[in-house]
Amino acid sequence: MNIILLGPPGAGKGTQAQRLVAERGMTQLSTGDMLRAAVKAATPVGLKAKAVMEAGELVSDEIVSGIIGEALDALDVGAGVIFDGYPRTAAQAHSLDGILSDRGRTLDHVIELDVDEDALVERITGRFTCATCGAGYHDTFKQPKVAGECDVCHGHEFKRRPDDNEETVRTRMAEYRAKTAPILPIYEERGIVSRVDGMADIDDVAKAIDAILD
Ligand code: ADP
Ligand code: ADP
Ligand code: ZN
Repeated sequence: MNIILLGPPGAGKGTQAQRLVAERGMTQLSTGDMLRAAVKAATPVGLKAKAVMEAGELVSDEIVSGIIGEALDALDVGAGVIFDGYPRTAAQAHSLDGILSDRGRTLDHVIELDVDEDALVERITGRFTCATCGAGYHDTFKQPKVAGECDVCHGHEFKRRPDDNEETVRTRMAEYRAKTAPILPIYEERGIVSRVDGMADIDDVAKAIDAILD
């Protein structure tokens, strides 16, 4: 089973992907996470991507499709893949078709998280993650069960993304509207798009996604 989680920044893609990994053993491929790792390690890709990401613009299609292909070959993806934050342009959607067919894989579902843009700024400015294991949290909507301690790894260090500020979020939303939302018809034609109310509580979004996958 291979699926795409599609939605603007802050829609809840990473949150739902992490849950699917924990509950179903699927593999999350987040181009955002992979690019941030490349920036941190100052690899050639990271050096190219850093300023683009800080501005909230899109990294080149060649770079992101390249890292997706490499990740598919390097990881154990037997239980299926969740594409999180990829594809984001029509060119990436076409690349993904080739990447999957080269590897004998098909796309089963594209799940669109439908959200109200006004709520996204609050979601994004309140977002933080565990510095050790990457588990995602929110100041208001998803605090760790024990204050200051990660639910998953019990780590005590958390971090916030430099691009999670109101100004950059507006650019990222505009990029989504201009370049990513227009790829939906490609998948609608294939009859594999499902829409989920992303404004519901995290657990209710999870239930709606499970109903599509089961
Ligand atoms: P994305 O990966 O789509 O950018 P995230 O999954 O990181 O989004 O979610 C953005 C922030 O909103 C996180 O802090 C997360 O804890 C929180 N969040 C995710 N889903 C919901 C939801 N359904 N309701 C309220 N807050 C949510
Ligand atoms: P969010 O889900 O909050 O929008 P991501 O973590 O998916 O954020 O992406 C963060 C940044 O990384 C994007 O703003 C963009 O600069 C870059 N990026 C991630 N995925 C892609 C992609 N598929 N194509 C181009 N740029 C990407
Ligand atoms: Zn942790």
